Amino acid sequence: MELTKINEKSMINVNCLVKDFGNHRVINGINATVSPGEVVVLIGASGSGKSTFLRCLNGLEALTSGEILIDSVPLERNSKSLKEIRRQVGMVFQQFNLFPHLTVLENIIEAPIHVLNRPKSKAIKDAQELLSKVGLFDKQNCYPGTLSGGQGQRVAIARALAMQPKIMLFDEPTSALDPELVGEVLSVMKQLAEDGMTMVVVTHEMGFAKEVADRVIFIDEGRIVEEGSPTQIFGNPQETRTQTFLGRLS
Ligand code: ADP
Ligand code: MG
Repeated sequence: MELTKINEKSMINVNCLVKDFGNHRVINGINATVSPGEVVVLIGASGSGKSTFLRCLNGLEALTSGEILIDSVPLERNSKSLKEIRRQVGMVFQQFNLFPHLTVLENIIEAPIHVLNRPKSKAIKDAQELLSKVGLFDKQNCYPGTLSGGQGQRVAIARALAMQPKIMLFDEPTSALDPELVGEVLSVMKQLAEDGMTMVVVTHEMGFAKEVADRVIFIDEGRIVEEGSPTQIFGNPQETRTQTFLGRLS
């Protein structure tokens, strides 16, 4: 396979990415670029490789072959590179895994203090600003167990943002939430997009994709089947597999 030409301006460059688990090829030759400030939504059936793709992007999975560049820097399997990538690429999961024995504020300042060596006073000030941004300033001294799922996920977003990432990855951030709590998380994500964050979002929230995505990528069996603007993909999908997938949702 030919390597795609590397676009110097891209925030994320993925060239011929292949990821196997044993003899199961889960990512089968993905090429993709994401521009600074772009919001890309990944859609696809369960098991199509979306989570694995995101996990490759922040160095949580070793690549079988291919190459990933983050802000033009190749992602390599040495600890220095991985540490740097994990700082630059924030990730929010379905299960937000806040530390239950730490308050909301303590959850957020933990990594800035211990990984970025920020003075505690500065970390607290920054964390409070982030909590205001996600609408949870008044919850700073609460424990995660007392929060709703939507509030917990907003804290998880603030915690990821506290590392001042260049890119934010979201893996089905609202899938575990009660329906009435989905909107508050999506609205924080929308605000982040409007503030210019580069984002790759796996979601089944097609309303969010239509409203916020610059580009929608449909993945099936570890390959990009089709990509385009939300209008193109939702309004006029070209590939049979995309049509079938979207048909199943409606
Ligand atoms: P999606 O997020 O689109 O549902 P995943 O990336 O989670 O898909 O999974 C894609 C495929 O890879 C699935 O068949 C899944 O079982 C497999 N897979 C994912 N992670 C692992 C792993 N750590 N070990 C073995 N197989 C895995
Ligand atoms: Mg997944």
